[in-house]
Amino acid sequence: MGLYTALRLQRKLKPELQRGDVEIVVVSPDPYMTYQPFLPEATAGNISPRHVVVPLRRVLTECRLLVGEAQSIDHAKRVATVATLATQETGRTEQITYDELVLAPGSVSRTLPIPGLADHGIGFKTVEEAIGLRNHVIEQMDIASSTRDPAIRDAALTFVFVGGGYAGVEALGELEDMARFAARYYHNVKRDDMKWILVEATNRILPEVGEEMGKYAVTELRRRNIDVRMETRLESCADRIAVLSDGSRFPNRTVVWTAGVKPHPILAATDLPLNEHGRLKCTPQLTVDGATHAWAAGDAAAVPDLTAKEPGKETAPNAQHAVRQAKLLGDNIAHALRGEELETYAHKYVGSVASLGLHKGVAHIYGRKLKGYPAWFMHRAYHLSRVPTFNRKARVLAEWTLAGLFKREIVSLGSLEHPRAEFELAAGGKPSRDPKGSS
Ligand SMILES: Cc1cc2nc3c(=O)[nH]c(=O)nc-3n(C[C@H](O)[C@H](O)[C@H](O)COP(=O)(O)OP(=O)(O)OC[C@H]3O[C@@H](n4cnc5c(N)ncnc54)[C@H](O)[C@@H]3O)c2cc1C
Repeated sequence: MGLYTALRLQRKLKPELQRGDVEIVVVSPDPYMTYQPFLPEATAGNISPRHVVVPLRRVLTECRLLVGEAQSIDHAKRVATVATLATQETGRTEQITYDELVLAPGSVSRTLPIPGLADHGIGFKTVEEAIGLRNHVIEQMDIASSTRDPAIRDAALTFVFVGGGYAGVEALGELEDMARFAARYYHNVKRDDMKWILVEATNRILPEVGEEMGKYAVTELRRRNIDVRMETRLESCADRIAVLSDGSRFPNRTVVWTAGVKPHPILAATDLPLNEHGRLKCTPQLTVDGATHAWAAGDAAAVPDLTAKEPGKETAPNAQHAVRQAKLLGDNIAHALRGEELETYAHKYVGSVASLGLHKGVAHIYGRKLKGYPAWFMHRAYHLSRVPTFNRKARVLAEWTLAGLFKREIVSLGSLEHPRAEFELAAGGKPSRDPKGSS
């Protein structure tokens, strides 16, 4: 959500930017920001991939964008070492000197040393993963449709999701919904031929929406024939067989790993203080505790939760806090540069909304519990209000409106991931595409 900070800063520091007193440099591995809560809708095909992302150059017109990845930060010397797209060719990194540092690198998937996971698993944090997964699922249906071999069919139509948080439940809910719809157009793949399995290590899913709504989500998923296994862990997925801690085994071609996140590894490559979970220790003003001229927000920042009943609590890593913190952070940097008093971050978590597929959802927000269509509607309204820029809001709304008038798209453009395959074949080489459609 560093984008929100940069947007805020370029607005608040307009006079200083015009005079050339200030320069804002944004370092990002991609030239776009991804609004992650929309990824499940993108995987279902309800929003096109380019509308889930915001092009940084288009909106950060007063900032200098450097497409690259910060590899380390020496805050004592005020230098960040950045690997850019050119680094692979030149072997040289960029050294960026700065006066104020903002760190908002988010989190990365927390994986475990489970046999086969690194080879066969796929995460669900990026737009590439969301679209890759959509193409992969439809491709598996095509594979199943083109063979009578029961073992191949069965493996192709078995989809295992590990982790019952937002990402896992929403991705599974949306993809199963899309696949069930797509099955109408296959003469030999029926909805009941598919196995959708959710594996969760604890005894509840979607803890963010509260216990009652979490139970409702389980009932709703099971009603749709989704196999929800609580207090169960994935023990292996070697040889493309998912082995669960309850002893069951599922040959498959799809393991989606959404079992939690951990702080981004870049944080360990700085000389800034981290807490025991590896997040940056922050003050309620969003400065890094014990360092000067360093600021942080979002999943990477351990910010004291001033609204919590028990002391010592930190704000949870979610979009609600990340967006609000990023905006306040922008304001506070402007205050600091002008010698003004800093504002304090205190936001009481208002609850959560989650989609379980088209017209289905759960919500526990502002003390109200909603399920089914009203919750799903609330989910869309909430995230539409949060996605940055009017342009993106308008495009997403237009897509939803059109989707209400026409049937869903069920096409897989998996071949987009292998754009040279056709030409390689024509030129007499071996096509690089894996016919088994590995993810
Ligand atoms: C599928 C999914 C659904 C979700 N749904 C919800 C929801 O419904 N409600 C909710 O509240 N939360 C939800 N979340 C969580 C929410 O999206 C995150 O908490 C939020 O995005 C965190 O914001 P952030 O700015 O800290 O990190 P991010 O949004 O992850 O942004 C971090 C940015 O830093 C960049 N970066 C990383 N490393 C470097 C580096 N070394 N150098 C330069 N740049 C770097 C990344 O490329 C990225 O652009 C969901 C998450 C996922 C994955």
